[in-house]
Amino acid sequence: MECDKCSRDAVMHAGYSGAHLCEDHFCASVDKRVRRRIREDSMLPSDATPEDPETWVIGLSGGKDSVVLTHILDETFGKDPRIEMIALTIHEGIEGYRDKSVDACVELADDLDMRHELVTYEDEIGVKMDDVAEKDPMDMAPCAYCGVFRRDLLERFADEYGADKLLTGHNLDDEAETALMNFLEGDVKQVAKHFDASIGGFDDRNEQDDFIPRAKPLRDVPEKEVALYAHLKDLPAHITECPHASEAFRGEIQELMLKLEENHPGTRHSIMAGYEELAHLAAERYRGDGDDGEGPDLNECERCGSMTARDVCRKCKLVEAIEAV
Ligand code: SF4
Ligand SMILES: [Zn+2]
Ligand SMILES: [Zn+2]
Repeated sequence: MECDKCSRDAVMHAGYSGAHLCEDHFCASVDKRVRRRIREDSMLPSDATPEDPETWVIGLSGGKDSVVLTHILDETFGKDPRIEMIALTIHEGIEGYRDKSVDACVELADDLDMRHELVTYEDEIGVKMDDVAEKDPMDMAPCAYCGVFRRDLLERFADEYGADKLLTGHNLDDEAETALMNFLEGDVKQVAKHFDASIGGFDDRNEQDDFIPRAKPLRDVPEKEVALYAHLKDLPAHITECPHASEAFRGEIQELMLKLEENHPGTRHSIMAGYEELAHLAAERYRGDGDDGEGPDLNECERCGSMTARDVCRKCKLVEAIEAV
């Protein structure tokens, strides 16, 4: 099959748009979607200047998504003096898995000449995920601990590096899955929060002072296309799955989504189009809703200083339970 735009062989066919594209035109289309998302979400504020640049911390795990994101951001803004970029890698303490992906991160940051920081659960929280998964004092899935620890460290270190925004490599499949999970859980406040915390355009969001705003510039690109892009550009991405992966509900949603997309190409795009509109409405609705609109009053955790609605934050509670085993 020929590329729609030139006479070379197509390397991909997108069921949702009917497009056939060759290597060059495919990669250009991914770059274009990411740049359009950055523009449409107003991620780069007009008051950023070389004297007072905008700082973006990029969550770089070494998987294909964050590697592709970092590569495209560097190609687009690497020489732009209005933006400073720092790649931040979190090592969870998972033998044989994270070590290899950290190598991929180091290699990429080296290639791009980008500042790279590595933070470990062991140094910062005093635990390793391999031990946490084995001890499991709260009788929950490993990812439930891991998500709390990762959020805490991303937030803490992004703040330490003076981040204006924290950028992550979530792709279209990730976001459509999260949207569907929020629907199925019937949690409209969660939908509203999702908009203000990470998917709303920066002109439309009600930014929360206590947290560094998130952005997901890759969220228009399907997972398969991210993987193909990483492969075609020969980027150093690490692909194996974490041995503790355990998000059962997300797994079910993933299967459902694959089937839906196969039978009805374009489902992920239409879910996100509708979801973003609804999330915007929900965010506006709850913002005006007295105390609720601003969420609970936050204070600093007695033990670690992280922002929390309780006296002691969730991370410190989990660490205490792990240490007690
Ligand atoms: S799959 Fe779960 S346990 Fe493994 S790194 Fe991700 S969140 Fe942590
Ligand atoms: Zn072409
Ligand atoms: Zn704490």
